[in-house]
Amino acid sequence: MKRKQIEKVAVKRPEGKGWKKGKRVAAQLSGGYLILELWNDGTWIYRHAVDLETGEYASCDMTGLWTQENLNNAFACGNCWTIVDEERFPLSQKERELALDALKVNWPDADVYERIGSLEREYSRERRDRKEDRRVQRVNDLMDSVPDIDRAALEWIDDQASGSLHYAIWDKTDDAYQCTACGRSFAASSAKAKMTHKGDATCPLCGQALIVEKRRSSLQKKARLTLIQKLDDKRGIERHFDVTVDWEIFRVVKLKETIRCMLHRGAWSRDAFDLYYLQHGGWDNKGNSFNHRWKPGYLYPQGIQEGLAGTVYQDWTDVFEYMAAMGMKANYNRLLVDTRKSFISTVEYLAKGRFRQLLEDISDEVDYIHGYGGWNALDTSKKDICAVMRIRDMQKINRLRQEDGGIDMLEWMQWADKEGKRIGSDVLSWYGRNGITNAKYRSSRASRRLSPEQLMNYLNRQMAESYGGKRKAKAVFETYEDYLSMSERLGKDMSDAMVYRPRELKRRHGEAVEENNRRIEAERARMDKEQARKDAERMEEKYPGSEAILATIRPKYEYGNERFRITVPHSFIDIVSEGMALHHCVGNTERYFDRILQHETYICFLRRAEEPEKPYYTIEVEPGGTIRQHRGMLDEEPGIEEVKPFLREWQKEIRKRMREEDHEHARLSAVKREENLEELRRKNNTRVLEALMEDLMEVV
Ligand SMILES: [Zn+2]
Repeated sequence: MKRKQIEKVAVKRPEGKGWKKGKRVAAQLSGGYLILELWNDGTWIYRHAVDLETGEYASCDMTGLWTQENLNNAFACGNCWTIVDEERFPLSQKERELALDALKVNWPDADVYERIGSLEREYSRERRDRKEDRRVQRVNDLMDSVPDIDRAALEWIDDQASGSLHYAIWDKTDDAYQCTACGRSFAASSAKAKMTHKGDATCPLCGQALIVEKRRSSLQKKARLTLIQKLDDKRGIERHFDVTVDWEIFRVVKLKETIRCMLHRGAWSRDAFDLYYLQHGGWDNKGNSFNHRWKPGYLYPQGIQEGLAGTVYQDWTDVFEYMAAMGMKANYNRLLVDTRKSFISTVEYLAKGRFRQLLEDISDEVDYIHGYGGWNALDTSKKDICAVMRIRDMQKINRLRQEDGGIDMLEWMQWADKEGKRIGSDVLSWYGRNGITNAKYRSSRASRRLSPEQLMNYLNRQMAESYGGKRKAKAVFETYEDYLSMSERLGKDMSDAMVYRPRELKRRHGEAVEENNRRIEAERARMDKEQARKDAERMEEKYPGSEAILATIRPKYEYGNERFRITVPHSFIDIVSEGMALHHCVGNTERYFDRILQHETYICFLRRAEEPEKPYYTIEVEPGGTIRQHRGMLDEEPGIEEVKPFLREWQKEIRKRMREEDHEHARLSAVKREENLEELRRKNNTRVLEALMEDLMEVV
């Protein structure tokens, strides 16, 4: 955009009368640009120019400052709610024709600003597209410059991941063995050794040492590889591969690269790297749709120094070269993140001390933001090995090394050291096999009473005796913990061995569950009762006399046969409690008490003859016997087909017992009912209406 040229064009004043009031816009053409001036109350405040050919645009304000703002933003002056149209920003008729003509719009109703807006949007969209195209091209160029993995690296990872193993895979159809080293097969009879599964053998064709495999027709092993190398003078690269080794006819190793991390030389730590992930459309540094993650694996020993030189990570060079040469597995990408000297030397110590598993576990604990934190298992701020490991007894540290223990074993040793307890190798491996970690043991209720060995013995016995070997140790442990926590809640004496170490865990756990449920039920009932009493007190105050009415109607409405009976509640508390027991709305709503007071309806209870105390149905009945509503448990209708004939019988009985005043109440009630239904119809409340009509049982 030629800004200097546009600046030379004189500011145009709006045409026509009254231009000094409110917002006005003047338009002119100059050198292929449409120039719009925005005026407010007679003052010029803004100039906006748009290139009629390309749609490129810019705005200039009173201070002469240019911004690349589109028309809408410029005229709205930062207020995103302002609508920019011709009504709010008027132009003279002549100028809008000029503008529309310049914009090549030939329908007279078009809005000038709308048309400019779409021209500008098109321009910025194309510009974005071109920018994105350039970005993608840069990414592709960079990714293309990454070298293919060389033969030596491939062979090295093949050796590491496969353990250089070859197999004699049995084919039972012709009793022959496939040698994965030479790819040929030989008859069982030509093998010199006795071919037992997992046993050693030698290929009679190529002389390679083999392992006999009689169960599977192929074998597979997965591993991961990290490769650090120089990419160019500006950057090193760290690459992550998934490695698959297949033994079928031959042994074949396959690599799939998933992440590339550019390590920038001479950069500050905050922009020291950027990540590219393998995605649907190839490599990109935007997003990670397959959710690739760095995982512990091998590090290729060549190229590390060249790759890390000049980056913020170069202090890792020596340690990484050592670990790579030793074939140590680690999450190398996470290790790189923490470049503190104390952490690097801790890792170096672990590597040189051959704490392989511990090192692998520790590397995976490094946090991408905070590095290896003080909350983790090791204290890397210390120099002395005992302080780093948080273990005073050197023997335990040696044991950790000898057994190549990971973090879990470290935590067992730390626990034993702190508590002054011993823990045997057999016990430790039992916990390892069963997936019960030290953290889980430490935080358990069982650990308050039982040593690791006692707990192991107890769980083993329960697995065999209570569960007949059908449950895993971990699941039995969970049941045990559940039992202990319930027993504690139930106020049992937790120091009593009969309680904390029951002989029959399964049975005792079941009993505890039942007892616990009973308590919960009792507590709920107590609270319901309390609530019912309070509600009833409130109702009594508000609707005095309702209870007296219930007393007078009792002889007329109580009724029963051999299956069911109808009773009339004695008090408010009866009604509220019934509503709570059946979890329906009668009793929660004051409307019902009001109706009782008006003799509009009464509340009665329907009970089964064999369970006269147990709430079954609540009935709202009119003085004449018409039933407005019947409500069972949770507003449902259990056994309604049996109940209905009984209700018909009851209605007949009520008719017989009615007196003169009852007929009058019944007549008024029917009127009110009709008003009620009419109102629902008017409000179009079909849901309630339908429910009421379904319940309604008029006297026939
Ligand atoms: Zn062979």
